[in-house]
Amino acid sequence: TMKAETLSVEGLTVHYGGVCAVRDVSFEVPAGEAVGVIGANGAGKTSTLKAVMGLVPRQAGALRFGDLDLSKVAARDMVRHGVGYVPEGRHVFAGLSVEKNLLLGAYAKPWKAATRQTLGEMYELFPVLGEMRGRLAGALSGGQQQMLAIGRALMSRPRLLLLDEPSMGLSPKLISEILVVLQRLRAEGLSMLLVEQNAKLTFEATSTCLVVENGIVAMTGPVSKLRHDPRVRRIYLGL
Ligand code: ATP
Repeated sequence: TMKAETLSVEGLTVHYGGVCAVRDVSFEVPAGEAVGVIGANGAGKTSTLKAVMGLVPRQAGALRFGDLDLSKVAARDMVRHGVGYVPEGRHVFAGLSVEKNLLLGAYAKPWKAATRQTLGEMYELFPVLGEMRGRLAGALSGGQQQMLAIGRALMSRPRLLLLDEPSMGLSPKLISEILVVLQRLRAEGLSMLLVEQNAKLTFEATSTCLVVENGIVAMTGPVSKLRHDPRVRRIYLGL
């Protein structure tokens, strides 16, 4: 179903005990758009994603996905509502085969024809996963495990994909392979929210970005503008 659905987040706030990690963060991911969240280590990027997913408690905030009030949806039910999630650090099941990992991401039953078809699409998107389908996920390189984590999330055919630092720990060559995948998903019209320390990658993969500093949105705008901002260039692009 290609129903136009916008994710809208308003006034999102996350506290850990006395620490305020996310303060009054608002943004939208319009249907079919890729939005980035960049920021330094500890700025609150992961907490923002986890709060959208319902994986950490929200002190405040309104969350909608199309007509749905996402704040009432439990984390385990997000996939059923079309929201896919690629966690930081990949978290593949090392002792299971590549194919089992992918099938675990399928919300539909693994023996269904539609699931087999989606599996075939994943092997087309990630040929290396097809070649290694019988291998244990733990035997894959970091880059291959990241592909697997993305593929696993795509198996449920999400209409919105949340990605937490897919470039983490990867070489520049592997980061450009991830970028190719993100650009292809974007071209196919998948809505994406990409959280990254790597601003260069994020600017290549998204059209709008938020810059998060100390839990607040310090800047936001189209990538075409942000990439020319002197402060962004200095702090986030190292130019
Ligand atoms: P990272 O690069 O580590 O992913 P980030 O921008 O995603 O950084 P968060 O992980 O969201 O940042 O952390 C934001 C702030 O909240 C940091 O100060 C962090 O120390 C704190 N924090 C994160 N998780 C917890 C927790 N479970 N308990 C207490 N404080 C936490």
